[in-house]
Amino acid sequence: MTVKKKDIRALTKEQLRDFFVSQGDKAFRGNQVYEWLWQKAVHTFDDMTNVSKQTRQMLEDNFVINHIEVDNMQRSNDGTVKNAVRLHDGLIVESVLIPTETRTTACVSSQVGCSLDCKFCATARLKRMRNLNPDEIYDQVVAIDKESRLYHNRPLSNIVFMGMGEPLMNYNNVIKAIDKITSPEGLGMSPKRITLSTSGIPKMIKKMADDEVKFNLAVSLHSAIDDVRTSIMPFNETFPLADLKESLEYWYAKTKRKISYEYVVWKGVNDTKKDIDALVKFCKYVPSKVNIIEYNPIDDGDYQQASSEALDNYINTLEKHKIVVNVRRSRGKDIDAACGQLANKS
Ligand code: SAH
Repeated sequence: MTVKKKDIRALTKEQLRDFFVSQGDKAFRGNQVYEWLWQKAVHTFDDMTNVSKQTRQMLEDNFVINHIEVDNMQRSNDGTVKNAVRLHDGLIVESVLIPTETRTTACVSSQVGCSLDCKFCATARLKRMRNLNPDEIYDQVVAIDKESRLYHNRPLSNIVFMGMGEPLMNYNNVIKAIDKITSPEGLGMSPKRITLSTSGIPKMIKKMADDEVKFNLAVSLHSAIDDVRTSIMPFNETFPLADLKESLEYWYAKTKRKISYEYVVWKGVNDTKKDIDALVKFCKYVPSKVNIIEYNPIDDGDYQQASSEALDNYINTLEKHKIVVNVRRSRGKDIDAACGQLANKS
């Protein structure tokens, strides 16, 4: 009978130290191995060169190091890189490196597929297969950091949880991954450079506030009118705007951090004055800013980007009300790497 070996990266540092003590070794060995597993992110025990051959063999007999493999890398003509990432069980997720003049941003996935059903998003078509483990989220960041150093001669500077999946539906693992990313024993990145984007799950937004997380929050709003939002994001029926508003007020009261609203404007969906006025009103509940995202068409063409007049109306009205608004140009469209296009096509 073969015994299924445990994934060593599921152990905390304490558990790893205890394991070495139980083997008659020093607890300190646990620290060494932990550093190899996270900070140096090696994929084999043989790479742990300051650990004796005998100990490496003992680890090999007891554990596996589950790790991702960048299966297919595509580079866009605007410098965006999309990784198709193979997980230890063969499933695939995608992550994206987005370079600008001053920063390199990693857009990472939190689930294989997605449990939500946003009508305009390609990932929604995949259904949710499973949550990613903390190490699988962490490894996507490590892979993009390496690519950033290789292609742009600088380390990764920012991370957004805007890839596949709904991060607040995999809350514990996302938090564990962010802890490792920000820890000096991991990548030592500042949480100020991390943004979690959610479709808006009120209960979990409150939980994040209670947990005093230090990263930024973005909410995919797309409409501030319940009927309209439910027609494009059906789960809004269960989590209506009034509940979302209340959770955001709670978030702001606890964290004092501004919220970003992600917003796409579609022709005939949310491009009227009524839609704009509702957004202005919503923006006044808590300090916030609006990121208008260009629509990236997905296959069937049911949705179309609104006219430039409609966009200008949004921008002018928001600015008139002193609400900060940014317009985000799509990146990596030619390789299906832009927002909402991640669907494991290749
Ligand atoms: N589930 C999370 C994160 C993934 S989606 C969330 O909903 O925020 C990342 C962003 O891309 C969201 O703002 C989402 O609404 C947006 N998006 C989805 N499909 C899109 C598309 N086809 N074009 C432009 N943006 C899209």
